[in-house]
Amino acid sequence: MFDLRDLYQQVIVDHNKSPRNFGKLADFNHEADGYNPLCGDKLHVYLKVNDAGVIEDVSFEGEGCAISVASASLMTDALKGKTMQESEDMFGHFQHMATSELDEAPDEEVLGKLTVLAGVREFPSRIKCATLCWHTLLAAVKDRPEPAKTE
Ligand code: ZN
Repeated sequence: MFDLRDLYQQVIVDHNKSPRNFGKLADFNHEADGYNPLCGDKLHVYLKVNDAGVIEDVSFEGEGCAISVASASLMTDALKGKTMQESEDMFGHFQHMATSELDEAPDEEVLGKLTVLAGVREFPSRIKCATLCWHTLLAAVKDRPEPAKTE
């Protein structure tokens, strides 16, 4: 059975209730839509990247389950001030954490607060909820016109 208590830790509940960086940026140069058809999560990511490739600001809008919203909130917090290269590295670590064995400790040094989402690996159907914001971020960077999908 799907046990919400294991997954909905305090940080996730908090980020879902009051998502950080929620709303359209006044000044952005990249954006993309993301959609997770399995769950119905929809996100839109706004991104302001400067000439040096550093993320100056990032925000999101959308509707979805607690995991998708909390993950986007945590991601946008974590990415400010990071280079695009660092962000892609972080996504690699995040994806690894979300699909790794339960007894493997997540890389806290790279992921920081994002490790609270390690619990999704117990619930394969939820992994896409947690990674949707990252797929959307990469679509925004590449200015893809079609929505990013988790499928
Ligand atoms: Zn979801």
